Parts: sequence; C-alpha cells; structure tokens
Amino acid sequence: MRTRQPTPPKKSPRAKPVAKPIVALPAPVGAAEREEIFARLRAADPEPKAELVYRNPFTLLVAVVLSAQATDKSVNLATAPLFAVADTPDKMLALGEERVRDFIRTIGLFNTKAKNVIALSRILVERHGGEVPRAREDLEVLPGVGTKTASVVLNVAFGVPTIAVDTHIFRVSNRIPLFVAPTTDKVQAGLEAIVPEPYRLNAHHWLILFGRYICKARKPECPVCPIADLCRYPMKTVAA
Ligand code: SF4
Repeated sequence: MRTRQPTPPKKSPRAKPVAKPIVALPAPVGAAEREEIFARLRAADPEPKAELVYRNPFTLLVAVVLSAQATDKSVNLATAPLFAVADTPDKMLALGEERVRDFIRTIGLFNTKAKNVIALSRILVERHGGEVPRAREDLEVLPGVGTKTASVVLNVAFGVPTIAVDTHIFRVSNRIPLFVAPTTDKVQAGLEAIVPEPYRLNAHHWLILFGRYICKARKPECPVCPIADLCRYPMKTVAA
C-alpha cells in the first residue's frame, strides 16, 4: 500500500529589503538667515547661562572635566558638597584623590576623573601659581582637558568667543543646517567662522540649550520651535 508523503511546508517568500527613503541634504542657511536665527535665540534668552554650577574659573574647569559623559544635573549634585570644601587647586590637592573620588562617586568614570582632578590641580599649583591659565595650549595639556573643555573654560570664564561643540550643538548645526561637517572639531571651526560676530560669545550657550530643550535628538519640538520657518531639516516633527 502506498503511503502518502506529507506535503512539505511552503517556504515563506523572502522578505524584500525595504528601500530607505533618500532625503537630499539641504544646503546650509545663508548669512541673512543665520543673523535672524541668532537674533531670535537672543530674544528668547538675552543672557544665557551655563547650567553647570561653579564658583570661579577653577571650579568651572573641574565641573566641565567631570561633565564628560555625565549630565550637568548629576555633576551639580556631586560638586555642591565638593566645592564647599575645595574650591581652589590647593584645597583640592589637600583633599586628596580618595576623598575626591568619594564626592564624585555618582558620576560616570569617577575613578579616572578623580585622578585627573588631582593631577590638574597639581599642575595648576606647580606651574600656574594656582590659577587657571588663559592660553588654550596651557589648558589642553591638563589631564582630562581636550579641545571642548578648553573652549568652554575660555568662553565662560574668560569671555573668549569660542564655540565649544558638544553632541547637542553638533546635531543642531547639521540639522538646520548652520554648518555641515562630520566631526565636532570641524563644526566648531565652521561655526566660529560663520556665526555673526555679535552673537559669537553666547552662541555656545544658545545652541546647547536649544539642542537640549527644543531641537532634541529623538523627537525635536518642531511645532514650537522659534526658528522652524528658517530651518531646512527635511524630517521635522508635526504636531500630534
Ligand atoms: S524646526 Fe525642528 S529640526 Fe528645525 S531647528 Fe527647530 S526643532 Fe530643530
């Protein structure tokens, strides 16, 4: 007697790759639009301030070093009691690495950061009379201090019109676009060349706050954005 062979299961058709929509990158906005964008950011916040809490150039430097890969809020929580006992390089050295580590334990990379804070404090005492130097090259050789940290300190503590570019500013600049480039260093050089002079000193603060609260990474607040009519980002969000 012939047995019936079971019918083999049908192969499901292979899923075809879904083509991603090609979105042409817009050209950066022109000079008149740049002027208008910064005029509106200034009108919304005439005197923008850093969200990191500090007492003097030294505590600003330490706060910025601690803020790498950490939120300003978490840094402020840790530095309030730290700066109450050590707001100069001498006092920080006297406190010592172990105690500094205890104060900043809630911040990411606290072991390395505690080492860097002590090492940079020692250099400030030994080579700069306990002061934070105003020259970029002197700042950038301090442990834990790179281009961005040096730019923030120069801008906020000493009024140099640098535009330190973090992840927020990098995104905002490439989205609007103000200046398009693949690295933060290139965006910084580009912005420092094209942001109209009267806005250059505060541009870092305006753009960072704008990126944090309006032009957010995942879902930008385009429906309430004050520069939506000037922005050329092709994937703006719409009101729900
Ligand atoms: S319209 Fe949207 S994408 Fe453009 S700058 Fe404003 S928040 Fe960012």
